[in-house]
Amino acid sequence: MKVKKIFLPESELPRQWYNILPDLPNPMEPPLHPGTGNPVGPDDLAPIFPMQLIEQEVSQDQYIDIPEEILEKYLIWRPTPLYRAYNLERHLDTPAKIYFKNEGVSPAGSHKPNTALAQAYYNKIAGTKRITTETGAGQWGSALSMCCALFGLECKVFMVKVSYNQKPYRRIMMETWGANCVPSPSPETKAGQAILEKDPDSPGSLGIAISEAVEAAVMDENSKYSLGSVLNHVLLHQTVNGLECEKQLEIAGDYPDVIIGCAGGGSNFAGMALPFVRDKINGKDIDIIAVEPTSCPTMTRGPFAYDFGDTVQMTPLLPMHTLGHSFVPAPIHAGGLRYHGMAPIVSQLLLSDLIRAEAVPQLETFQAGITLARTEGFISAPETDHAVAVAIREAIKAKEEGKEKVILFNWSGHGLVDMAAYEAYIQGKLSDHSLPEEEIHRALGDIEPLPKPQQYRKGTIS
Ligand SMILES: *Cc1c(COP(=O)(O)O)cnc(C)c1O
Repeated sequence: MKVKKIFLPESELPRQWYNILPDLPNPMEPPLHPGTGNPVGPDDLAPIFPMQLIEQEVSQDQYIDIPEEILEKYLIWRPTPLYRAYNLERHLDTPAKIYFKNEGVSPAGSHKPNTALAQAYYNKIAGTKRITTETGAGQWGSALSMCCALFGLECKVFMVKVSYNQKPYRRIMMETWGANCVPSPSPETKAGQAILEKDPDSPGSLGIAISEAVEAAVMDENSKYSLGSVLNHVLLHQTVNGLECEKQLEIAGDYPDVIIGCAGGGSNFAGMALPFVRDKINGKDIDIIAVEPTSCPTMTRGPFAYDFGDTVQMTPLLPMHTLGHSFVPAPIHAGGLRYHGMAPIVSQLLLSDLIRAEAVPQLETFQAGITLARTEGFISAPETDHAVAVAIREAIKAKEEGKEKVILFNWSGHGLVDMAAYEAYIQGKLSDHSLPEEEIHRALGDIEPLPKPQQYRKGTIS
């Protein structure tokens, strides 16, 4: 009988995360302080992150031990199964073998608990009582709420008000896990009050919610702040997934020719890809593709530059591919991919040609999601559908080239809380958004005065 899904025994759960920083052929440039323009030091970050996470952010150790307490709780959903998509392969009539890693089996339904659990743990042992964060549609907020519950921490989530009102289910998940979730802008912080004074009906934004969560952490000595993507330590924690994939493909007797992940801030893509990027640096030939929406083309049309991580210009300046912190993407359903920047590690890999990027329009992503659902059963998150779409593109390409390639993609999460998006697609109410060059130029104008990285590269590279 053919093997359909490859489970690893619990004893094969990776004991270390993989840190790519010491292996990078071109070193990363440092984040800069938004006020002074000097490189950011550990002391600058100490008010908002526990020291062990700050150390991981800059660590040059190639492997970092996963503490026993985290391993024990990873076992709730890890190792996650790797599936072979035979039915999708037959449907596409492709000679390619398609594998996908199911990160949707975590209790929160996505890859995000891989880092939420680690962040909750390091806060717990540092004496933090409460973690604050922001969330858009609620995927990150729900993952962190669950992991705070597992370690007995309080969790405070500032949820963008328009989503808070339109998407109650993730908020109810957070409340079920014991978190306190408020609509942002809220009257609880100075940042929120200032917005509400000017506009009591403000729908909120991720930028405003970040300001509120950071302020709430800084103002309370028992609180720290937590981020669900972009930063080096977040990507580090996610590598547990790629390390599992390596072992599972070995059991299957295969090695990937193509690796695909969707990228918003870059964490699920990097979590799967980084251990294979290590192989590529050591000479393997792998095509590694980060997929973004055409309506938020950070990597395919944005420059590599220094920019703020948030809209309100509070965070350090990060060296990354960016569309400018004032860029507001069209309201596509893949909310987790509507971010103006990209993880500095992922940006650096793109700059070094170790990975490449592809952009996909919204309708193609939902078409791909429906194809996957009708062949393999699983209903993906709208973000995940971007990876599915490029896996299908690559399988069709393999057929045209007559090549028996091995394609591996990360199934970052299920879409069972996103059914309204599928309804809109099925009823023909969705459209593709074109993004005029002028809008990108406008938003990039705002980062012109900022310092430039040494490896500065202008935008619209494809
Ligand atoms: C949040 C999210 C993403 C995007 O975030 P990354 O940091 O780029 O991984 C992708 N897929 C799912 C299911 C998500 O919840």
